[in-house]
Amino acid sequence: VQYTNSEFSGFLSRTPSLRAINRARIISLIRKQPGLTRSEISEISRLSKGTVSTVVAELLSEKFLWEEDRFTRSQRNTRLRVNPKAGVAVGIELSADQCWAVLTDAEIHPVKHLQRTLASVHVEETVETLSSIIGELLSGVDERCLGVAIAIAGTIDTAGQMLKYSENLQWSDVPLASLLSGAVGYPVTLINRSRAGVLGEHWYGAGAGLEDIIYVSISSGIGAGILIGGHLFTGSNDAGGELGHTTVLPDGPLCVCGNQGCLETLASMPAIIRLIQNRIEDGEPSSVQRREDGSLSYQAVLAAARDGDNLVLEEIKKAARTIGIAVANLVDLFNPQAVIIGGRLSEAGEVVVNIVRETVQRRSFHVSFSGVQILRNALEADSACIGACALVVNQYMAQVEPILA
Ligand SMILES: [Zn+2]
Repeated sequence: VQYTNSEFSGFLSRTPSLRAINRARIISLIRKQPGLTRSEISEISRLSKGTVSTVVAELLSEKFLWEEDRFTRSQRNTRLRVNPKAGVAVGIELSADQCWAVLTDAEIHPVKHLQRTLASVHVEETVETLSSIIGELLSGVDERCLGVAIAIAGTIDTAGQMLKYSENLQWSDVPLASLLSGAVGYPVTLINRSRAGVLGEHWYGAGAGLEDIIYVSISSGIGAGILIGGHLFTGSNDAGGELGHTTVLPDGPLCVCGNQGCLETLASMPAIIRLIQNRIEDGEPSSVQRREDGSLSYQAVLAAARDGDNLVLEEIKKAARTIGIAVANLVDLFNPQAVIIGGRLSEAGEVVVNIVRETVQRRSFHVSFSGVQILRNALEADSACIGACALVVNQYMAQVEPILA
């Protein structure tokens, strides 16, 4: 059994039972394609009709599913959907610069959004900030909270419990899941930010229906969430997909990781901002809004790009060409159906994805390129949070013990 199947990411604190696997598989299918019938599920999942019937009956009795047309069709043919009222899920993208949080219903429709800046990256204070975000999201909500998933720029253990290392937060070996779960009283799972992003886009965004996709997240750092044949690739010790630390310029700028010329040193949001700042300090004209101390926020830079500021656009295009080189390498290595460009830089507009596409076309092997679409993420700032919420719902619904009549 493949436990790294996308339905099971961050799910491995204990070996899932066959029943949990079947439940997760079926819930995941219905979430991806609302309105499937029992026989369609059996056909797609290759589970026997009997197994599908048993699991669906269980999920119906637990009110996790509902039948769209139970009065007009025979039971075998009713269309099944996840019950949006079965509960709510919290997904939070955590980085040193900001927290972006989304509350969804059980059908993963966003209900509330919230943005917060971290006052510090001390573990205790971060847990407090996260707790208060969760409290605020859940205030006035009647449905039960199924759980919380935190998407982090860092290496997470396979069980989704331990943050092994994050350059961004300057943390190592932090049992964030148990700390936060102890504070809020809900199950908490951790997942790498780019992996949450690829799951979000695969389930609900630009990668819907595709099984071989790579999501490239460009924010404070750069990472790749890699889905191969519907399975999330994690690597031998959970560090797979560190695209930001691949070398794109020999003898380039020194990276925090110790290497020189890493992609991140040239094309992450902080790198782009540093280059823009230098040019403005040298007296070049730009309309970008600066803070009182002269520094630049992500927001201001992205807004200036959308308004067509020349200096800002030049630096973003330069970064996009460098990202394109790294993406061309990914395309040659993995031959994916799509590469999806997300993270904060994607908010600059179509310019980024267009330049990445041109660069990939020029630099990748033509056979690989003919099979790939280079797309902008569809869930905008929500990609990682939506992936995180879907993970919560799947885990909760798969692991609950049957309610005995
Ligand atoms: Zn590096």
